[in-house]
Parts: sequence; structure tokens; C-alpha cells
Amino acid sequence: MKKKNYLMLITSLIALTITFLGCKKEHEDIDPLAQSNSLSTGASANSFLSEAFYNRLTVEILYMPGYEPTQSSVNNLRSFLIDHLNKSSGIEVLTREIPSYGQENYSTNDITTIESENRERFNADQTITASILILDGEYAENSQVLGIAYRNTSIAIFGGIIAENSGGLSQPTRTKLESTIFNHEFGHLLGLVNLGSDMVENHQDTDHGKHCDESDCLMYYTVETTEIASFLIGNDIPELDQNCKNDLIANGGK
Ligand SMILES: [Zn+2]
Ligand SMILES: [Zn+2]
Repeated sequence: MKKKNYLMLITSLIALTITFLGCKKEHEDIDPLAQSNSLSTGASANSFLSEAFYNRLTVEILYMPGYEPTQSSVNNLRSFLIDHLNKSSGIEVLTREIPSYGQENYSTNDITTIESENRERFNADQTITASILILDGEYAENSQVLGIAYRNTSIAIFGGIIAENSGGLSQPTRTKLESTIFNHEFGHLLGLVNLGSDMVENHQDTDHGKHCDESDCLMYYTVETTEIASFLIGNDIPELDQNCKNDLIANGGK
């Protein structure tokens, strides 16, 4: 009798182990990295680009009062993402107003706090998410910067400096400047340049960090500074050059 109980225990343990291994196998299909929204910039590049872990994308644009993006900027961002990402179940871009924090400028620390107090969408099931904050001030670390990509699914845009550099005489339209900076910062989340999407050909402008060496490319370093404003008068929103496109395709994008 005692022996029988012992045998039953062993059998149960084996069954339990098989069940456990079964579960574990099932969960191997979920990207362990991109389950988190607090990793370093570029860490989820493949999850954005490919269909391997997520077939749907939700982008949440959270703007402070007075800085609602134009509908054309939202549409342009969505088109850019449709052009380069494999997301067969769709890409949606939502917008929502958040309170002003009333600061003249914002540090990266301030920005991560604002994100955690206001962001509602996180990666879950088949949906990967991104958050874009539009702040009513400048970047504390560099007042010429229009935007930053600061975590694997997080972007901040400095609405005050964008407003100052667009919409006026001899300035580009708000939509043109906004769209350019949205697309550029999202390019960093997609792993450009050499930031999570390996380079097919070497084209990194190492003097300027994770940027492209082609001056006409969306990922050229001046694109995220006020320097881009004058270029945009008489020019369209910059696109990715072939080297940047090749990197996205090699990492599961299109
Ligand atoms: Zn950049
Ligand atoms: Zn490029």
C-alpha cells in the first residue's frame, strides 16, 4: 500500500512536470523582452517591425493643453508605420489630452514620471504599444532638441519648441515639422541607426550618435533639432534612405 502511494506520487510528479514543461513551451512564443515597456531605446525594434510576437500596434499620443497634434500629423505617422511595419491586424493611433505640469522645461526624469502617471496602454497579448508625450516646454538638457526617444516604446516631443519653429512667416507648417519629428523618433524605436536593427551596410554617423550619414535621410542628426525647420521650407517631410530601409527589412520590417 505504501509502495502504491509512493508510485502514485511519482506518477503525479511526472504528470505535473509534463504540464509545467508544456506551459513553458507555450510561453516561449511570447517575446520576453518586449513584454516590458521600460527597456532601453531600440530593444523592441524587432517586435515593432515583424509579426513574430505582435500583429497589432496601438500608439497613444498624450498631449498637454494647446499642443494637440494636427490630424494630418497623426495620419502621416500612421502612414509611415504602415509603410514599414508588419502588423496584419492593424495600426491605430489614439490621441488624448493630459494635464499641463506647468514647467518651462522637462528633464528625462520628469518625462518618465509624466509617462507613468498618464500612460494607459502597455504591451499585452498580440498588441505592442508606443507612447508619445507632447510636452508644453523645452528639453531641460538641450533647448534645440525637438524630440527624444527615451525607452523601448516611449517618445517625448517638445511642443513649445515645435510651436516656436513652425506656423509663422518663413517657417514650415506645424504639420510638416510635427510629422518629421514623429517619424524620426519612431525610427529610433525601430532600431535606427545601429540601435537594435543591425546595419546591412555601415552608414552610422558615429560623431552624432545613432544617426544616419546621409544628409537627406529622415534619420540624419539635424532632423531632431531646430536646424531642420529651415530645410523643411520648400522640401517634403524627409524619408528613410535605402540604407535605413534595408536595416528595417533585415530586422523583419518592410
Ligand atoms: Zn535622432
Ligand atoms: Zn538613413
